[in-house]
Amino acid sequence: MKDLIIIGAGCAGLTAALYAARAGKSVLIFEKESIGGQIASSPLIENYPGVPRMSGIEFADHLFSQVTELGVELEIDEVIKIEPQESVHHVFTSNQKYEAKAVIIATGAKHRTLGLDKEELLTGHGVSYCALCDGAFFKNKRVAVIGGGNTAITEALYLSTYCESVTVIHRRDSFRADLSLMNQAESRSNIFWIKDTIVQELQGDQKLSGLKLLNTKTNSTSSLSVDGLFVAIGHLPQTNPFSGLVPIDSEGFFDIGEDCKTPVPSIYVAGDCRKKNMRQLTTAVADGANASMAVSNT
Ligand SMILES: Cc1cc2nc3c(=O)[nH]c(=O)nc-3n(C[C@H](O)[C@H](O)[C@H](O)COP(=O)(O)OP(=O)(O)OC[C@H]3O[C@@H](n4cnc5c(N)ncnc54)[C@H](O)[C@@H]3O)c2cc1C
Repeated sequence: MKDLIIIGAGCAGLTAALYAARAGKSVLIFEKESIGGQIASSPLIENYPGVPRMSGIEFADHLFSQVTELGVELEIDEVIKIEPQESVHHVFTSNQKYEAKAVIIATGAKHRTLGLDKEELLTGHGVSYCALCDGAFFKNKRVAVIGGGNTAITEALYLSTYCESVTVIHRRDSFRADLSLMNQAESRSNIFWIKDTIVQELQGDQKLSGLKLLNTKTNSTSSLSVDGLFVAIGHLPQTNPFSGLVPIDSEGFFDIGEDCKTPVPSIYVAGDCRKKNMRQLTTAVADGANASMAVSNT
């Protein structure tokens, strides 16, 4: 039996492990895919305080070594269920049951993708899912943003301060974003709008060079030359196996506050899987620390 089981070896889960191990707890982490989570696919991080420039893989490696040197154990396996008990919780993978006094669910989220050929190939080479993370690489360049909600318009506003031009492409003729955001964006002279349109093809081999667009009303196609494409069509939270246990909001994120405490004693959530305004490394590691401190204080 462990003091703490952590589900997810992203930055939130690894940070929680770091704090718990330093507090003398025995810790086991489960990871179903790759150590480091989302950040491991980032070519370059420039906005983590104290780390001027580092690849995501290197960042994840450093954090993982820091944690395992403290005796934290890791199993590559998917957790499919938690059965809360009074003093010890049961955590199930597909073939085994584990026990822990406390559990932190740090299962993160995935960005929705367009599902286009070359999308994976060009990610990090012109295609991005995060303006806050990658916007600075497109200073004075032409970029497009795909989406029609608050995230897309917020990203367009942010990018318009760096980029020569920002073209917002939306599949409908009206936007879901708040009116105040729309008003701000419409008043920027370097933000342009293409409605009723989807991206049919990403152009470029080593690096994105343009988009082939399809107007869904007229069925006509056109091309747009861009250096960058920011896909802002939402996140897919990885909360499914635990949705009966922890409250979930309308988008599928854990509806839990910054203290990371769930209504179930000794079960906590941390990181991008939680409802929040900003999904970044800094906010994920803050959650990991908060959740771990909550474990230590119970
Ligand atoms: C390409 C890219 C670039 C980015 N660049 C930056 C940047 O430059 N700066 C910045 O601040 N942020 C950046 N971000 C955002 C940042 O990576 C995330 O906000 C942060 O890593 C979230 O950490 P997390 O631990 O909450 O979740 P995740 O990183 O999503 O980790 C969750 C982990 O849990 C695992 N998991 C899920 N379900 C289960 C289960 N049932 N059982 C076992 N394991 C499970 C997943 O496989 C995953 O490894 C970037 C994101 C991406 C995708």
